[in-house]
Amino acid sequence: MPDKLTIALAPGDGIGPEITKACLSIFQAAGVLDHVEFTEVDMGRKVFNDGDTRGMTDEAVEIIEATGILYKGPMGTPIGGGGKSINVTLRKTFGAFANLRHFQTLPGVETVYSRAGVPVDFYVVRENVEDTYGGIEHRLTPDAYTAKRIITTPGCDQINRFAFETAKAFGIDRVTCGHKANIMKMTDGTFLDRFKFISQDFPEIETEDVIIDALCMNLVLRPDKYKMIVLTNLQGDIVSDLAAGLVGGLGFAPSANIGDQISIFEAVHGTAPDIAGQDLANPTSLLLSGLIMLRHIGMRKTAAIIENSLLYTLESGVHTGDVKGKGEPVGTKAFAAAIAQNLGKNPETIEGAAVPASDDISHTPPVRPSVNLMMTTHEQVQTTVCGADIFLETTLTPLDLAAKLQRLCETTPFKLTVISNRGTQVWPTGSPYTELVNECCVRFELKEGTVIGQGPTVHLLAKVAEKFTVTEFIPIRMYDGVPGFSLAQGQ
Ligand code: NAD
Repeated sequence: MPDKLTIALAPGDGIGPEITKACLSIFQAAGVLDHVEFTEVDMGRKVFNDGDTRGMTDEAVEIIEATGILYKGPMGTPIGGGGKSINVTLRKTFGAFANLRHFQTLPGVETVYSRAGVPVDFYVVRENVEDTYGGIEHRLTPDAYTAKRIITTPGCDQINRFAFETAKAFGIDRVTCGHKANIMKMTDGTFLDRFKFISQDFPEIETEDVIIDALCMNLVLRPDKYKMIVLTNLQGDIVSDLAAGLVGGLGFAPSANIGDQISIFEAVHGTAPDIAGQDLANPTSLLLSGLIMLRHIGMRKTAAIIENSLLYTLESGVHTGDVKGKGEPVGTKAFAAAIAQNLGKNPETIEGAAVPASDDISHTPPVRPSVNLMMTTHEQVQTTVCGADIFLETTLTPLDLAAKLQRLCETTPFKLTVISNRGTQVWPTGSPYTELVNECCVRFELKEGTVIGQGPTVHLLAKVAEKFTVTEFIPIRMYDGVPGFSLAQGQ
C-alpha cells in the first residue's frame, strides 16, 4: 500500500468550502492527514456553469474511480436547463446503492426529545438507486403524467443484506423494515419479502416490519424504539429528514453512500446560500459523515477520538448559531478549533464512543470492471404471456369504450376483461361516483390456452392503435403460474 491513502475531495458550493475547511482542520489536528491525502476534484456549480450538465469533469470522475472514496460538501442543483441533481447522479453513476445515516441525541443540542429525556439513537438504511429516482417520467395525455417506480429483487437483496451486515458489524440486534406492501403489493411487497428472505442469514438479529405511515407516527411518538430501519428510496428519503428533525435538524445528520466499489460521504443538508461565506455554518453533519468515512477505511480509533471531542465540545455549550443550546453561539472556525483543542476529552453526560486500541487502515481501490455487472436473482422462472395492459387516451364512457374494444378484439386470441381509470375498475362493473380522466387502462387476457411469446399481443396493440391513441403498452405475464400484474381497485 502507498504511504498515504488517497481520497477525492469536493468541497461543494455555498457553505461547502467553509465546512470542508473546518473538517480538514480537525482531521489535521487528529493526525488523519498523516495517513490520508485529500485530492480536490472539480464538481458542482462552477462545472454546471461551464456547460457540463453532469456537474463534474472527466478528470473528477477518473480520480473518484481511482480512489473509490469521495468526501463531498453540499452542491446546488441547477433549476431548469436540464442539469440533474449531481448528488443523485453521483450515487447512481458509481453504484453507491446504500445510504446510511445515523441519528443520535447530541449533548448540548436541545430538542423536544432531549428535554423529555427520550434518547434517540438509530440508523436509517435507504436504498439509493431504484424506485422513482430513475426520474423516468412521461406526459401521457394533456392531463395525465406518470413516473416509473422500479423495484428489483437484486436491488432489494443488496440493500437488505447491507442493512443486516451493517447491523451485525455495529452490534445492533434489531432491524425494522418500513414499507407500503399493503397497497403496493408487487413493489413494496417484494422489498418486504426479500427483507424476510435475507434475514434468514442473520438469525441473531431480531426483525420486524411496519407500514410506512405507522412508522412515521411511531418515530415521532417513540423514536427510542428503533435501532435500524431499512427503506426503499423515496420513503427512505422522507423518513431520513423526519429523523433528522428528531435530533435537531439536518445540520446533525451524517450520510454515507456505500457501494461495492465506490463510496461517497457527504453532508445531508444543502448549500445554505443564505449564510454562505459568513462563518455561520455548522460543520457537524459533514464531520460526522467524515467519521463514518474514517471508520470505513479502518481509522476507527481516530474516528472515536474525534467523535468524543465533538460530543464533549457540544456538551460544554460550544455550538454554532443554528443550534438551540445554552450560551452564545460561535462561528464555524471557532467551533472547529474547539473540537481540535478538545481531542482526547470524553463527554460526561452521555456515553462516548468506545475507542479501539489502534487504527487498522485498509482500503482496496476499485478495479474498473470491463463490462457492467448483470445482477439476477431468479434464473429459473417459467414465464408465459397471458395478455396485455394497453393504456389509451380517451374521453369515451367505459361502456362505449368497452363496446368498441370488444368488437376490435373479436378476431384475436384475446378478450377484454377490465377497464380501469387511475387504477380503479370502471368496467365491467364500477361506481358512477368514480370520476374519470382522459387516460385509462384496458386489459386484454387470453380467451383460452396459451400464446407463444409476445407477438400476438403486439398484433393486438397494432389493431388498438389503428383506432385509439395508445399511451403505454405492457404485455402481462404469469411467473411460475403466479400473475405478474396487479388487480384494479374494485376488481
Ligand atoms: P439547505 O439545507 O441548503 O438550507 C435549509 C436551511 O437550513 C437554510 O436556512 C440554511 O441556512 C440552513 N442550513 C443548512 N445547512 C446548515 C448548516 N450546516 N449550518 C447551519 N444552517 C444550515 O436547503 P435548501 O435551501 O433547500 O437548498 C439549497 C441548495 O442546496 C439547493 O440548490 C439544493 O439543490 C441544494 N441541496 C444539496 C444537497 C446536497 O448536496 N446533498 C442536499 C440538499 C439540498
